[in-house]
Amino acid sequence: MSTPRVSNVVRSRDSHIDAQGWLTSAKRLPSPNFEARPHNAVPTLIVVHNISLPPDDFTTNSIADFFLNRLDHDAHPYFDHLRGMRVSAHFVIRRGGAIEQFVSCDERAWHAGVSSFCGRERCNDFSIGIELEGSDRMPFEDAQYEALSALTRIIVKRYPIDAVAGHSDIAPGRKSDPGPHFDWPRLRHESALQPSFFPFQAAD
Ligand SMILES: [Zn+2]
Repeated sequence: MSTPRVSNVVRSRDSHIDAQGWLTSAKRLPSPNFEARPHNAVPTLIVVHNISLPPDDFTTNSIADFFLNRLDHDAHPYFDHLRGMRVSAHFVIRRGGAIEQFVSCDERAWHAGVSSFCGRERCNDFSIGIELEGSDRMPFEDAQYEALSALTRIIVKRYPIDAVAGHSDIAPGRKSDPGPHFDWPRLRHESALQPSFFPFQAAD
């Protein structure tokens, strides 16, 4: 039997975000790296990222270990400069499309850093961060677009999201992800969101 390369969220028709902000079909890996959103902020922005640890290696569970503060920093030279960093994202989409969730969507995850969206700073306050397992140097997998599109639709149903941006859009010059291989028109098409959700992408 071949391994199904279809996302858990795509397969589960009743998948939704529960009353505590957790996606019912995701693999739940609660990270300690979060805090309350300030001043009753609600998520209005989805931020798309890429990450791989070590870079371009998709065979490890190092992203989860990093977000759970249990990365073995001696295991790879690249991990050395990550020492002491406390970061997280709400979701990670693995190469095969599986979705892992680290922080409730109701809480503030630590994925965007210094950032600004349409003049509003501190994007972590009002965003949901989704990391695609990947890099700036190669294309993403079909299963990742399926999962991202499905997840985006589920999030939009639950929260007053009105925009989807890349990390590079809200931290230009400092961040380059999700990178040149990320297919924005494809996400726009597959998520079926209106062009107004993509303020950094030219309309057709
Ligand atoms: Zn990023």
